[in-house]
Amino acid sequence: KNLVIAVDGPAGAGKSTIAKIIAEKLNINYIDTGAMYRAITYKCLKNNIDIENEEHVIEIAKSTDIDFRDNNIYLDGITINDEIRTIEVSNNVSNVAKIKEVRFLMVDVQREIGTRNSVILDGRDIGSYVFPNADYKFFLIATPEERGNRRYKELCEKGYNTTLEEIIADIIKRDDIDSSREFAPLVKAEDAIEIDTTGKAIEEVVESVLSKIK
Ligand code: C5P
Repeated sequence: KNLVIAVDGPAGAGKSTIAKIIAEKLNINYIDTGAMYRAITYKCLKNNIDIENEEHVIEIAKSTDIDFRDNNIYLDGITINDEIRTIEVSNNVSNVAKIKEVRFLMVDVQREIGTRNSVILDGRDIGSYVFPNADYKFFLIATPEERGNRRYKELCEKGYNTTLEEIIADIIKRDDIDSSREFAPLVKAEDAIEIDTTGKAIEEVVESVLSKIK
């Protein structure tokens, strides 16, 4: 039987860092579902599609092929790992992700992958909506300051030109749109294990996740 692990929480809570390590330790696939919404957003921006024009965004999402291979995300056959991390994509992604039809398309792909393989997925609605029967559900949280600082460091290391204020503002705005959208909002599943990662080392969080799984 396939193992499905859901890791949800607000932006910058440490989901992808933790999920990647757990995937390696358990030798299962890691799916970054946020990268899928980012990929659609990136394609819209690149094609000068008005994000407010939902019909147009849905058209783009329908005609897009998203695939995960060897820890890379492919948009219509081309890797776009770095292109989807820009501030411009971050600023627009929540408005793309709130479109129900876009979510249906992404969730189909996520369920298909999780039905065929053992996976750990990180996102916002994995435990609450995509895989309500997941074997394990985790909900990671941290203070906005800590989440902002982490994102800021990450982006600086990658050479992006930004400020801590800009990052914290982006995180707060996205959390707000993600939690208040009508369909499959960011929410802790009732049966998810909540872990506050504020002030904790990566290894510490990995250990507490693993201790629940084994
Ligand atoms: O995880 P990440 O911060 O890269 O996600 C980017 C955005 O994608 C989130 O702010 C949210 O709007 C959207 N998202 C979502 N549902 C998911 C994963 C991400 O709506 N399962």
